[in-house]
Amino acid sequence: MKFRNIVMSAATTAMLLGGTAATAYGQNTFDMQFAGYPAYNGTDLGLAVDSKGTSFKLWSPQAERVRVNLYDDGRTGKPFKTIDMSLDNSTGVWSCSVPGQLYGKFYTFQIFQHGKWHDETPGIWAKAVGVNGRRAAIIDFKKTTPENWENDKGPEVRHFTDVVLYEMHHRDMSLHPSSGIANKGKFLALTEPGTTSPQGEKTGIDHLKELGVTHVHILPSYDYNSVDEANLPANQYNWGYDPQNYNVPEGSYSTNPSDPYARVREMKQMVKALHDAGIGVVMDVVYNHTAENDGSNLELTAPGYYYRHREDGSWSDASGCGNETASDREQMANFIVNSVKYWAEEYHIDGFRFDLMAIHDTETMDRVARELKQLRPGIFIYGEGWTAGDSPLEPERRALKENVAKMNGIAVFSDDIRDAVKGHYSDAADRGFASGKPGSEETVKIGIVGATAHPQVNYKKGNNSKFPYAQSPEMIVNYVSCHDDLTLTDKLLKSMPEATEAERLAVAKLAQTIVFTSQGTPFMFAGEEVFRDKKGVHNSYKSPDSVNAIDWNQKARYRDQFDYYKNLIALRKAHPAFRMTSAEQIAKHLKFDKINSDRQPNLISYSLTDHANGDEWKEIKVVFNGADHAQTVSIKKGDWAVIARDGKIDPAGIGQSDGGNIEVAPRSALIMARR
Ligand code: CA
Repeated sequence: MKFRNIVMSAATTAMLLGGTAATAYGQNTFDMQFAGYPAYNGTDLGLAVDSKGTSFKLWSPQAERVRVNLYDDGRTGKPFKTIDMSLDNSTGVWSCSVPGQLYGKFYTFQIFQHGKWHDETPGIWAKAVGVNGRRAAIIDFKKTTPENWENDKGPEVRHFTDVVLYEMHHRDMSLHPSSGIANKGKFLALTEPGTTSPQGEKTGIDHLKELGVTHVHILPSYDYNSVDEANLPANQYNWGYDPQNYNVPEGSYSTNPSDPYARVREMKQMVKALHDAGIGVVMDVVYNHTAENDGSNLELTAPGYYYRHREDGSWSDASGCGNETASDREQMANFIVNSVKYWAEEYHIDGFRFDLMAIHDTETMDRVARELKQLRPGIFIYGEGWTAGDSPLEPERRALKENVAKMNGIAVFSDDIRDAVKGHYSDAADRGFASGKPGSEETVKIGIVGATAHPQVNYKKGNNSKFPYAQSPEMIVNYVSCHDDLTLTDKLLKSMPEATEAERLAVAKLAQTIVFTSQGTPFMFAGEEVFRDKKGVHNSYKSPDSVNAIDWNQKARYRDQFDYYKNLIALRKAHPAFRMTSAEQIAKHLKFDKINSDRQPNLISYSLTDHANGDEWKEIKVVFNGADHAQTVSIKKGDWAVIARDGKIDPAGIGQSDGGNIEVAPRSALIMARR
C-alpha cells in the first residue's frame, strides 16, 4: 500500500536487505525497557459477557491505575458509571466485572500512567464499536449471524497454486451507477444476485462467478480511521491502510455505522454470499502500523510497548506512515496471531494478505501460519515481502521475500514478474517484456518458474532478486498490477503513448497470460478484465470515486477482453500443469526452448512436459512474443491443438496445427497442446 504519498515497493528491497549505515539493528536501549514485561495470550481480553455478568480485561503492565467508563451512547454523553480495575501482576492484565448483561451499552478504557490520565480508548480488543470507533460496543454476537452460518465454509483449498486471487475495494466494485447494485460501496453489494450493467452484462457477485476467480481479496475492511462514518453523504474514499480498530469491520461499508450490529452482520452476510457462490474471502491486514501515533489504541493502552523506536525514543517508521509496530515483542505477536484467528473463526475468513509484511519478524509470521493452519489447513497467507523504510529489526529477521524460506506456509508477491512484464512500477514511461522493451527475458523466466531453482534460469541476470528465493511455487504470488501504482491500462497508456488501443489491449492480454500460466498463485486487480483505468492516478488511496470506481459500461465495450480473461482463468483451472506444487516438479517438467535473446528479443518459449502434475495433456507449448513484430518459433511436428493465438484463447481449442515453423503475432501468446 501507499499512504501519505510515500512511495514504497520493491525498489527498497535491495537497500533494506543490506540496511543502511545509519541504523544499528537490534534492541536499542529505549526499546529494551519493554523486554521484561509479562505477556498474556488469553483470548478474553476486552470484553466477555456470560450468564454471571459482564467483565472487562485490559493488558497494561505499566499502568498505575486503569478504569472502565460505561456509556448509553456510542458517541455522545457522559459515562453512567466508571469502575476501577485491578491488576494481576503475573500477567499484566487489569480486570473488573459488573452484574448483568450490558448489551446495548458502550465502554472505554482509560489508564493512569506517567502522572496523568490518558485519553479514553475502546482498547485493542474491541469487537464492536459505535460510530467512528471511539467507544467499544457491547453486543450479542448470536444476533449477528446470517441464516445457516453454522454450516458456512469457504472453498476447499488443497494447494495454494490452485487459488486465483481477485483484489477489490468495496467502493470500486459497486459505486458506479452502471453496476446496477443497490448497496453501493457496502459489504452488502456482493450479496445481490442478478445485477447487470445497462447493456445487460453481469456485475457484482454474478460477474465474479462468470469470471471464475476462486478468492476475492478485499482491501482493508477492518475499522479504519480516515472516513468519517458520521458523514456518509460526503462519499469520502480511502483504501483503508490507516488502521484504528483491528477486530471490527469498517463502519462506512455498513448500511448504518451507528448501529454496532450492522457492520458485523453485514460483513458476515457478504462472506456467506461469496462462500455460497464458491468464492473464498481474503482480508488485507495492516498490523505493521496504525493510523495514529500517540492517539492509537495500541499506544493508549500500553504506551511505547507496541511500537519500535529509535535510540532517542522517537518513532521508528519502516511503514512510511509515521510508525511501525513491534511484532518481535511477545504481546504484539500474541495480538497479531489472535486477531487473525478471530477473523478466521468469527467471520470465516479464508486468507490474509499482510501489508508490508517485512516489518514483521519471520518467527511471528511463522506462528501466524502455524496457528491459522491448525484451524483450517486451507487458509492462505501471503504478503508484501518488503518494507517502506528502514527498521531497527535486523534484516535477517524480517519477513522479506528473500527470507520466505524461513517461514512455513507463507507466500510473497513476486515483484520480479510484475516489473519485468510491464516495466518498472516507479517509472510510468518504462516498458517491460510484454510492451516491447528487451532485456527482461530472464526475469520473466524467474516469474514463470515461481522464483524456484531451475537449471535453465540464470538468477544473476534477474532485475530484482538474484537467487531462487522460493522453495516451492506455493510461496509465490504472481501479478502485474494491484491497487498500488498505475492500473495495467494506465501503465500501458503512459508507456506506449503512440500505440493504438488495440495494441494496448493486446499487451494487456499477453501480460496476464504470462501471469496466469506461470507457476505460483495468480493475482489480478479488479476491473482489469474490463480494461479498467484510474484516469492515470497511481496513488489513488484517497482519490474520489470518479477516479477509483469501475465503470461497468466497459464490460460490454471490452467484452472480448473479458472473455479472454475468463478463458485464461478456465484454462488454468482445468490444467494442473500450470499449477505445479513443488520446485522439483517444475525443474523436471518445465523446459525452456533455446532462444538467443540478442537475435530474438522479447521472445520466450517453453514446454510443460510428460503430463506435468497429472495433466491430461502430454505436452503444452507456451510462447510469449512481446515484440512489436511477428517472430517465428520452431515447434516439433505433431498433432497439436491450438489453445491460444493472435489474442484469442479457448481451453477447448481454437484450431489445429502440425507444428513446424509458426509465426507468433506481435504482442501475443501462443499456447498449443498435444495428448
Ligand atoms: Ca472507521
